[in-house]
Amino acid sequence: MGTLRLILGDQLNVQHSWFRQVDPDVTYVMMELRSETDYAQHHIQKVIGFFAAMRAFSETLLVQGHSVKYMRLNDADNQQSFEANILQLIQEHAFSKFEYMEPDEYRLDQVLKTLSSKLTIPFSVSETEHFYSGRNELADLFKNKKQYLMETFYRYMRKKHYVLVDEHLQPLQGKWNFDADNRQKLPKHHVPVRPLLFSNDLSEIEEAIKAAGVSTIGRVDSRHFLWPVTREQALTLMQFFMDQCLKLFGTFQDAMAPNEWSLYHSRLSFALNVKLISPKEVVDAAIAKFNESDNQIEYHQLEGFVRQIIGWREYMRGIYWAKMPEYATLNYFGHDAQLPEWYWTGKTKMQCLHQSITQSLDYAYAHHIQRLMVTGNFALLAGVHPDEVDAWYLGIYIDALDWVEVTNTRGMSQLADGGIVGTKPYISSAAYMHKMSSYCANCYYDKSKKTGHKACPFNSLYWNFYDRHEKLLSGNPRIGMMYHVLNRMPAEERTALLEQAQYYLEHINEL
Ligand SMILES: Cc1cc2nc3c(=O)[nH]c(=O)nc-3n(C[C@H](O)[C@H](O)[C@H](O)COP(=O)(O)OP(=O)(O)OC[C@H]3O[C@@H](n4cnc5c(N)ncnc54)[C@H](O)[C@@H]3O)c2cc1C
Ligand code: SF4
Repeated sequence: MGTLRLILGDQLNVQHSWFRQVDPDVTYVMMELRSETDYAQHHIQKVIGFFAAMRAFSETLLVQGHSVKYMRLNDADNQQSFEANILQLIQEHAFSKFEYMEPDEYRLDQVLKTLSSKLTIPFSVSETEHFYSGRNELADLFKNKKQYLMETFYRYMRKKHYVLVDEHLQPLQGKWNFDADNRQKLPKHHVPVRPLLFSNDLSEIEEAIKAAGVSTIGRVDSRHFLWPVTREQALTLMQFFMDQCLKLFGTFQDAMAPNEWSLYHSRLSFALNVKLISPKEVVDAAIAKFNESDNQIEYHQLEGFVRQIIGWREYMRGIYWAKMPEYATLNYFGHDAQLPEWYWTGKTKMQCLHQSITQSLDYAYAHHIQRLMVTGNFALLAGVHPDEVDAWYLGIYIDALDWVEVTNTRGMSQLADGGIVGTKPYISSAAYMHKMSSYCANCYYDKSKKTGHKACPFNSLYWNFYDRHEKLLSGNPRIGMMYHVLNRMPAEERTALLEQAQYYLEHINEL
């Protein structure tokens, strides 16, 4: 008799109302499963990070006096699926009720719904009490509207949660958006803050993963695992960001430089996504830091950061639940190319891609603009099938969970949703890369050449993309200008560009 409560690997929210009281009739169950290690080919740091955070969380619950059944990956009684394990536990211990929290992933939502429908005991589902918005809040807000708009959603969130607004619900400092003050290139001799790295010895977990034969990508130093895996570490990283990074967050939000993998970014996405900390804690801490900084932190740095958390993060979740499961199948441009082989090794002569991919393999991390304007940009220009792009992003990043990966990748980065998340493709030639990074200076390719020997591939692929998709894109008011330029280009120049692009597409694995 008693209740069995399931805690998923990304539901490590110790502040959840479930844990407020110790109830001797409740048993919590947590599981390391092959179904979870194998639904994508994950980065080794991602698998280790999840298991380490889960193990630490179960210890915390035990110390608090809760009863916990923790199944490790190689335990003999672990049947490697939620359904099999839960049915077995219910039978063995004669539980009289089953409870779980809403999964953030559509896939697991289906798994648990199917499981529940097979149960002969009552079950119930709770919220995770993590996000600002409910699963369906965005869909309700935009009901009967033609287009989702992040800016509309963001302002609604600011007002609803009284974030950076005055008593009349008007934005502090007179404006909602300070993007124009942000986004500068890193000055030549600027040395960014060194990232705070943890040094967790998780070699035992790495060995267990290897012993089980789980196939992973990327590299790890598991004796000195650098990501936060406990709430204490997550709070320490959050404070480090507030003290060291917030003051330049917005300014260098879009900057990229060789061998600088994190700059002024928070690297809180993993801790947030597994719910070691809540978005509200992060937003409150940023506002508190700004208020106590005595004008040492400019307002646009704060607004730029808050926008990411209560704007983009919640917006993506809302779109996910409004549009799944169809969303994960959309392919607006009908792209069908394979991902170049060097996405798995970093071995390409293109410096921007070499740097962004190598650091992703080393750290299971790249910041937003590297994901969007380097790896995502190239995949879109190369016409890679969105399934392949999704599989890569879902595997390689420590923070990659379907709800936030697919909306960012298929939606924002590949525009495979035809304009649900964003309204135009995020593509660029070498000009943008040069404007926001110092990658081009050390590149084999010449950023200023469009055709001929060593011409930067981005330059011809960029125009080739617009040429190929003229039918779909030329009517878009945000990009009509590009067609004006393309169509006024001398025929010879246009042909040379398209031939150059074709050559690169045919030799993509050699670039
Ligand atoms: C192609 C692509 C794939 C992505 N895949 C993921 C993913 O799998 N998981 C993931 O968490 N984020 C993803 N993002 C969004 C974003 O790049 C990461 O959240 C961010 O880089 C994480 O690093 P950080 O914690 O240092 O972020 P910071 O730059 O410090 O930003 C602070 C926080 O804001 C939130 N945030 C910022 N931008 C976004 C966004 N576009 N969507 C959702 N949250 C955002 C994150 O929680 C992040 O921790 C992706 C972006 C792109 C372009
Ligand atoms: S020249 Fe082209 S390929 Fe090289 S770093 Fe610049 S944008 Fe990337």
